[in-house]
Amino acid sequence: METPKYYSSRGFKTGKVTIPGFDLVELPKNCFFRNDGDVKDIRKHVIKVCRQMNTSPGYIGSENHLSLAYGNHLEFTEISAGSTVKASVIMVKEEQYLLSKILSFGHESVHALIYFGLEEHIIKKLRESGFQMDPFKKYPGDEESVAMIGGFLTVYNLEKILNKNLGTILNPELNRYKLDLDKSRIL
Ligand SMILES: [Zn+2]
Repeated sequence: METPKYYSSRGFKTGKVTIPGFDLVELPKNCFFRNDGDVKDIRKHVIKVCRQMNTSPGYIGSENHLSLAYGNHLEFTEISAGSTVKASVIMVKEEQYLLSKILSFGHESVHALIYFGLEEHIIKKLRESGFQMDPFKKYPGDEESVAMIGGFLTVYNLEKILNKNLGTILNPELNRYKLDLDKSRIL
């Protein structure tokens, strides 16, 4: 099994890490996270990261509903001698509207949290932000929909901090997640 140094020398963090939109999160044992932030070309960056990890990711191309162009989450799982090591990398495309970028960050963060088994943290953040929805019950077995809720939650919280509206999503297929989130507001 690769040592923690293998991951730290590749820029991964473990222990208490900042996951965009979800604050400081205590990662379970043997979990590593890296936020690559803004990248020019998602596809090229994915290839670069895979080379760096001497492997191919278990999770590429499932962002097609949004087009891989907006963001991605890569998972590198290593199983040896009965233990599992999980390493996650998130990234978003540099050139996009702020609203879309924040939405993408929150979305990819949810994939990372689910991968680490931290579903509870997503629900906790929703409660703290004033929403009673449990997206895992609302969309059973549908991680993409849960990720969309995480995206809109992140936009909501940033708008509150900035005290300004970041704009409107015109795509009704995406906007229905915002409506679902708004409906679960605890007044
Ligand atoms: Zn996704």
